[in-house]
Amino acid sequence: MTGIPRDHPRYESLITREKIIDGIHMGITSQQGLVAQGRGEAFDYLIGERTTESAAFAERAAVAHILLAKNPIISVNGNTAALVPESLVALADVTGAMLEVNLFHRSDARVHKIIEHLKANGAGKVLGGKGDKRLGLSHDRAIVDEEGIFSADVVLVPLEDGDRCQKLVEMEKTVITIDLNPLSRTSLSATISIVDNVTRALENMIQFAKDMKHDSRESLQEVIDSYENNKVIPDALYAIQEKLKQQSEERGIQWI
Ligand code: ATP
Repeated sequence: MTGIPRDHPRYESLITREKIIDGIHMGITSQQGLVAQGRGEAFDYLIGERTTESAAFAERAAVAHILLAKNPIISVNGNTAALVPESLVALADVTGAMLEVNLFHRSDARVHKIIEHLKANGAGKVLGGKGDKRLGLSHDRAIVDEEGIFSADVVLVPLEDGDRCQKLVEMEKTVITIDLNPLSRTSLSATISIVDNVTRALENMIQFAKDMKHDSRESLQEVIDSYENNKVIPDALYAIQEKLKQQSEERGIQWI
């Protein structure tokens, strides 16, 4: 990592960029991942680089779903492996979910590098290396493990692409997404749409899981029943509008 000073006003975002670039050098992140990160960063700026109250509700409901699931799977791509390997492992550990590597720009070499990277960060068994089932999509994100995503009842898919998200929903799985763009096909089609940075979302979810893991099934079900995913997108758009308004006013620009 380069020496970015801690007091730099954009420290977090610069460190995040460095992690993605390191991921590319390590052969776990694709170059396209850099572009995806840029898009996410732009939306994070608009949302105010914070977890909104609405996103926190979604994260709590997501954790309740994972804790109640029979076969919960956390899907890992090249960006999340570079950005949050320890958090992915910690969330899997505390909830009992399995990790599965699943890539849009797939090569066996990259899948195995990510599996090794997760193991170096404390993971036990990691799925994704078999790729013995297809989901009926033309691209490589269709390739999944039979014992993993294919048979999962609940799937957490951070930074997912819209096609596969829709396919997983069609298969009647509970699909939890983490995507900073509230208008992406992914956010619009998920069962639980977490509009937050994956770095913050996973940290929050680990804490929620620690707090909730001994709760009764009834009380976890209540968290799910009281959650309304159709409010998440309007809430995120409202947060963006308010942020833009505030920024405009601070800079003496008239808000229309
Ligand atoms: P869709 O197919 O759902 O419309 P897309 O084609 O717009 O998605 P992709 O390139 O497949 O986007 O995936 C990148 C998505 O991940 C973008 O919506 C981007 O906002 C989001 N994203 C990127 N980095 C992060 C991050 N660190 N945390 C959360 N979301 C992120």
